[in-house]
Amino acid sequence: MDLHIGGRHAIVCGASKGLGRACAEALAAEGVHLVINARGRDALEQVAAQISMRHSVTVTAVAADITTAEGREAVLSAGRAPDILVNNAGGPPPGDFRDWSDDDWHQALQNNMVAPIQMIKAVVDGMIERRFGRIVNITSGAVKAPIPALGLSNGARTGLTGFVAGLARQVAEHNVTINNLLPGPFETDRLNNTLAGEAKMLGITPEEAANRRRQTNPGKRFGNPTEFGQACAFLCGSNAGYIVGQNILLDGGAYPGTL
Ligand code: NAP
Repeated sequence: MDLHIGGRHAIVCGASKGLGRACAEALAAEGVHLVINARGRDALEQVAAQISMRHSVTVTAVAADITTAEGREAVLSAGRAPDILVNNAGGPPPGDFRDWSDDDWHQALQNNMVAPIQMIKAVVDGMIERRFGRIVNITSGAVKAPIPALGLSNGARTGLTGFVAGLARQVAEHNVTINNLLPGPFETDRLNNTLAGEAKMLGITPEEAANRRRQTNPGKRFGNPTEFGQACAFLCGSNAGYIVGQNILLDGGAYPGTL
């Protein structure tokens, strides 16, 4: 399927590996030029070179912390005003809410709520003027079904979700869409680290922890980041303009509700 976005320009944050990288790769396969971002320079530059060679698009790597104002400025000034923005960064650590200080909460809000909102603020008016914009926020299945140990994530991401629900309806008439993609368990370093932690706690091997988790999913497997990237690219397509303000779960059916 041609998504009719060849030649457009995108910013993809948190894109040196995992889900962000898969989104960058899927957009590049559609002929979209990219500014990609992560904090670690070496891995990011390697990914930029690989994507650019594979798909013959321009890929500019900006090593910066997207949760800081300086980092966002570096990313935003690295390329043309974007037609597409994919917001992504690492998730906050697990823990018990009794142990979290004001600073822990501020950090989580900065990472998973304020940073994506500031990125949206920086690009959305240009998109409105040009009458095309696609914004996708990578959030988490935890927005729909909170994970008790991930209280910082549950709280901060739900704040972003509420904000987006309002703004998406304000900009839709200009052919600018804002949607959230909610990953369940996808095979990335983040998931592997979580499983290693679980294994340690339970006194089992990481493989055993992974097998147990797979069995709890209706698909009996973890998601492949490529599947996630394809869904992201579809939401960024020219013909996806009527998908507005949605929270789309990609979790193999793990969420048990009817709606
Ligand atoms: P990942 O494999 O750890 O990749 C995270 C990417 O983001 C890396 O490229 C990392 O590179 C970059 N990054 C992290 N913090 C950043 C920052 N402050 N500024 C710029 N780049 C940053 O994680 P993932 O599994 O793809 O997850 C992506 C998001 O989805 C996370 O928020 C995660 O919590 C959420 N999620 C994932 C799953 C899952 O199963 N994978 C499930 C639910 C939710 P650097 O470290 O070099 O910056």
